[in-house]
Amino acid sequence: MKLVFATNNAHKLQEVRQILGDSFEVVGLRDIGCTEDIPETAETLEGNALQKARYVREHYGLDCFADDTGLEVRALDGAPGVHTARYAELFGTGETHDSNANMNLLLHNLENKSDRHARFRTVFALLYHGEEHLFEGIVEGEILHERHGSEGFGYDPVFEPEGRGISFAEMTAEDKNAISHRGRATRKLVEFLKTLHATNR
Ligand code: IMP
Repeated sequence: MKLVFATNNAHKLQEVRQILGDSFEVVGLRDIGCTEDIPETAETLEGNALQKARYVREHYGLDCFADDTGLEVRALDGAPGVHTARYAELFGTGETHDSNANMNLLLHNLENKSDRHARFRTVFALLYHGEEHLFEGIVEGEILHERHGSEGFGYDPVFEPEGRGISFAEMTAEDKNAISHRGRATRKLVEFLKTLHATNR
């Protein structure tokens, strides 16, 4: 069975394929000739993931899943949330897709705040045989006062998952995947797909 993952991120594609095994053939946007920028204009992670999956369904007629991730900081009323990737671009000094600028803005906005609680949340939306399904993965933690570590990407150096005592950027990819928002959401999606496969639906 063939499924589109609405992403051009080779790392994400490989991660899903690895967990899924060969019960489904997962292809990316480039593989189906989709080179346009799919709109992500919703106000929630769920909305954006559904918007991307529905776009592929409507324009290419294929079953599809899509993801969206946000960092939700309690003292900032859930910001940057749906704007996580473009935080500095939209609300700071204007740099586009710049992790350093994003972290600087976050640390600045949390100066003098004693509540450092934050969580990463990933949502997958799956459109399969005309039905829509949502899967969520969450990791709770806190925002550090400065950067620690050099692994990973995005906000990893300033995010410390609960009970670990080190940042995501100080963990191996394997250790991070075992507890991360995306790892958890991916495993839920994959479990569901395996059930579909087993029942041959
Ligand atoms: P996306 O929806 O996967 O593109 O994630 C949106 C943004 O969230 C990314 O551009 C990163 O800045 C941030 N992000 C997502 N996952 C992680 C993570 O595992 N570590 C650090 N930052 C992340």
